[in-house]
Amino acid sequence: MKLNENYLNINDSYLFSTIAKKVAAYQKANPDKKVLRLGIGDVTLPLAPAVISAMHAAVEEMAHKQTFRGYGPEQGYAFLKDAVKDYYKERGVELEQDEIFISDGAKSDLGNILDLFSEDNIVLVPDPVYPVYVDTNVMAGRKIIYMNATAENGFLPMPDFSVDADIIYLCSPNNPTGAAYTKAQLEKWVEYANKKGAVILYDAAYECFITDEKLAKSIYQVEGAKTCAIEFCSFSKMAGFTGTRCGYTVVPEALKSGKLSPNKMWLRRQTTKFNGVPYIVQRGAAAVFTEEGRAQIRESINYYMNNAKIIAEGLRSLGIWFTGGENSPYIWLKCPDGMTSWEFFDYLLENAQVVGTPGAGFGVNGEGYFRLTAFGSEEVTREAVERIKTLLSK
Ligand SMILES: *Cc1c(COP(=O)(O)O)cnc(C)c1O
Repeated sequence: MKLNENYLNINDSYLFSTIAKKVAAYQKANPDKKVLRLGIGDVTLPLAPAVISAMHAAVEEMAHKQTFRGYGPEQGYAFLKDAVKDYYKERGVELEQDEIFISDGAKSDLGNILDLFSEDNIVLVPDPVYPVYVDTNVMAGRKIIYMNATAENGFLPMPDFSVDADIIYLCSPNNPTGAAYTKAQLEKWVEYANKKGAVILYDAAYECFITDEKLAKSIYQVEGAKTCAIEFCSFSKMAGFTGTRCGYTVVPEALKSGKLSPNKMWLRRQTTKFNGVPYIVQRGAAAVFTEEGRAQIRESINYYMNNAKIIAEGLRSLGIWFTGGENSPYIWLKCPDGMTSWEFFDYLLENAQVVGTPGAGFGVNGEGYFRLTAFGSEEVTREAVERIKTLLSK
């Protein structure tokens, strides 16, 4: 056999294991100290009651011969695709049912979509970034070029028409920076991609945190996006499905390259390599879009956004520069006193017993920055912010 040697080029991600090791070592040496975690990128509130009761009902259906379901459509049941279609319609985006594909989450689709693209595409990725975009392309041996997300551009890089790229990753609201593109900014990206014949892989996993009307919840709110963009979305952050697993990807029919249609190719790819999301889970996901479900997930999102506000107010009172926190569950702050990301990590852990995520773990431009998340409990968030304020106002 010959193994894929591209795997030799993947950087080992030590970020979260290093954090875990440092916290464990600190806790061992200081067993009486209570460590507060604002570092995790996972939700903590349970599934909404409407989701739970829909899943219970679906389990009951599976128990009876008349209502039992075996293999479903690989690309998702019509009842869920219709619910997604209506959700887009609310923002003025008209989709066909066949343009929507249900999957077990955005991460799988972001990785699997690369099956559609040949190896010799040039990939443009912002730095810092969600590590999945880089690693999946390194595994396939594609050339990656970076665009700088910095304080100067508000961590929202804009297209450089002198640079040629074929596959462009945009994540808005962004993980880790919390920065989100306006519709006007995305118009530039759509113009660039259409001009270059490139595709934008648009990660909208955090769209439900957007409240500002100027910001885009979907790239298809921008005219011309259907000929150049694939959009990935997920119930993970929207409705607490990180452990339940469900997402959806939109591949417009209008997106074409030569004789090939990515929509038809993705259908072929999914029907060949994927056998669909469990019926029970899809019923739960559909309940997210009911009136009751919408109200319940809104309550959870508001709870997280209130945590984000608590963190943002604390940082503002200290005069610390940050992005995010308003239309995103992430707060991305500049480490005080010129500390590096890891210096600040150690300083916070040792002096305030607060854990965050060093920005350097997300890319070169993340050095000197630090990510805090709003996914914890309000109580822990308040206490952590108080501790940070006490420490840094000294
Ligand atoms: C959490 C997250 C996702 C969602 O992934 P799932 O596989 O649907 O859980 C996608 N993109 C980003 C940037 C994320 O942070």
